[in-house]
Amino acid sequence: MRQVDTLITGGTVVTMNARRDLFSPGAVAIRGHQIVAVGPEDRVRQLVESDNVVDATGKLVIPGFVNAHTHVPMTLLRGLADDLRLDVWLLGYMMPVEREFVGPDFVDVGTRLGCAEMLLSGVTTFNDMYYYEEDVARAAADVGMRAVLGQTVLKFPSPDAASYEESLDLCRGFIKRWQGHELITPAIAPHAPYTTTDDILRDVLNLALEMDAPIHIHLSETALEVTDAKRDFGAPPIEYVDRLGLTEAKLIAAHCVHIEPHEIKLLAGTDAGVAHNPSSNLKLASGFAPVVEMREAGIPVGIGTDGPASNNDLDMFEEARLASFLPKAVKGDPTALPAPDVFAMMTIEGAKALHLDGVIGSLEAGKYADIVVVDQDAPHATPRFHLSPNNVYSHLVYAAHASDVRHVWVHGRQLVRDRELLTIDLPAVQARAREIAQQINDFMSQREGSLLIKIIAIGGFEQRETFEVQVKVRTHDLQGVEKRLQELHLDVVKHSVRQQFDTYFLFGGRDNRYLRYREDNELVGKEPGVGPAGLTVKPFYTLTLMEGIVEREYQDSIILTRSRYTAQATYSLRFYREYFNPDEEVEVVKWRTRYRVTYEDAEFAINMDHITRPQGMGDFVEIKARTWSASDAEHKADLISKLLRELGLDPSQSVRAEYVHLAQRVLA
Ligand SMILES: [Zn+2]
Repeated sequence: MRQVDTLITGGTVVTMNARRDLFSPGAVAIRGHQIVAVGPEDRVRQLVESDNVVDATGKLVIPGFVNAHTHVPMTLLRGLADDLRLDVWLLGYMMPVEREFVGPDFVDVGTRLGCAEMLLSGVTTFNDMYYYEEDVARAAADVGMRAVLGQTVLKFPSPDAASYEESLDLCRGFIKRWQGHELITPAIAPHAPYTTTDDILRDVLNLALEMDAPIHIHLSETALEVTDAKRDFGAPPIEYVDRLGLTEAKLIAAHCVHIEPHEIKLLAGTDAGVAHNPSSNLKLASGFAPVVEMREAGIPVGIGTDGPASNNDLDMFEEARLASFLPKAVKGDPTALPAPDVFAMMTIEGAKALHLDGVIGSLEAGKYADIVVVDQDAPHATPRFHLSPNNVYSHLVYAAHASDVRHVWVHGRQLVRDRELLTIDLPAVQARAREIAQQINDFMSQREGSLLIKIIAIGGFEQRETFEVQVKVRTHDLQGVEKRLQELHLDVVKHSVRQQFDTYFLFGGRDNRYLRYREDNELVGKEPGVGPAGLTVKPFYTLTLMEGIVEREYQDSIILTRSRYTAQATYSLRFYREYFNPDEEVEVVKWRTRYRVTYEDAEFAINMDHITRPQGMGDFVEIKARTWSASDAEHKADLISKLLRELGLDPSQSVRAEYVHLAQRVLA
């Protein structure tokens, strides 16, 4: 009789082989890294014997779960920022914190913590996408878990690469070092089409084909992403990456929530696998992936937790339940996606989605010994029926909890015994995790207290100090002023007419600074002196940090101000509103006729402002000049004084307040 390392006996063995065999009492024999026998207990006992017999009587023996999509080190960002839209969450919180904190130590601690959580909920393989994947690999291999690890590629600087060329080099080195490792499959992870470019994706594909490495990418996660892709690439995301050839590689597509019917057909004709992440899709309100349709078309669909910052846990039992309930509710059909199908998605189908079904995903002789033993003696597991083989899947998908996981083996090595982690010093990992969280906490509380730091966190802003001499005068005769300006025959350097929609974010007592989001619609081809009617519009969006610092005051309420940080606003007004969360919002809409003129020896901007919202604010003329020294400022203040009178403006009508504050008075 053959001697084996471990013999698991007495339990109900759920094989997930092609015939979906169940053996009760069944047995599984492990030798080295592999399963060498599976079947009814009496038959297996005739073939093998072992000094290490694990009695699983009354328990279930199942294949380890495959977590088909996650960002494991993000365990350390769990619960940091929730209940936000995807863009605000990702661009406003996750990425700035990651740029500041993510390094080899962060990734090591986060991975060990994530592995602990996953092992204790029956996961034996995970598919990851993150930075410093080399350190994820080291930690996962040290713990003994199986993983497909995607080194991230982005079009902008990331925590571990200053450019995409650098991240591709990282990928190449990472794949070379880890390819052929018994537990780790190195992969390339271009984050998503909207965070990469055509060229990046082509380079990624070439590298993937050259090194036979999987490509792990987010696709069609939100409706907005699909709309933008059609605008930017002329195709929805999946059709777009297929055109680029990504489906020729071992593609793992996370989400596919908004996959279109023709894209389902398209993916079904390739080897691509899909990772379905119901918690994440629900929490971020991304939508409902057409899982039933994708599976019917023949696409292997695995289940993933996504990162613990968008879930917020790594519990596959919970994911399985949601994966099953969602299509039932969405379709109004309780027969949609039954428990046995969901259990397949957690195991063999998940393995297929990761291109690993040849070696894991089921309990069969010859496959690696990734095995989980599940208790069935908790109140929620009582009683049980045996009318149909489906009863066991119902129990696993609809009733079982992570807390029922008793033993776990990966690659033949036992990693959990009686719910005790054998390869992770959990208290030490948790202590390090709490330390890092404290640092993040301090960083974030400082940031939330400063508008400036918060603006810089989302990028695009340059610290640029400008000094301006300026005055603002109320007038009841804007047209008269404009007429007099033309009669002065000044040298007009530039002239434009624009409608400006300014939204001010005010922050009460928190900060004396405030923000202005401006949609500036310049009328193109506008001639001076003509009324603002029916011309084409060229919109431009800016975000400005307003500080209202008055450095000096001259005659006629002319002031010297120091400003401000301005940047092109690359996100939507809604994004900034949700990100900055102002206490008060004030809208000012105006028509501005703007002249840039040379008066005597200096250049001035003259703004003729007709405020249309809020009503009753009136009309103003602003005169401004850039300055760089105290004597220059004094000289320009004198010139402004003179110009005011030449334009027939009454200096006693000058106002010091900004438009937002005048608007507040009108609205009060
Ligand atoms: Zn993800």
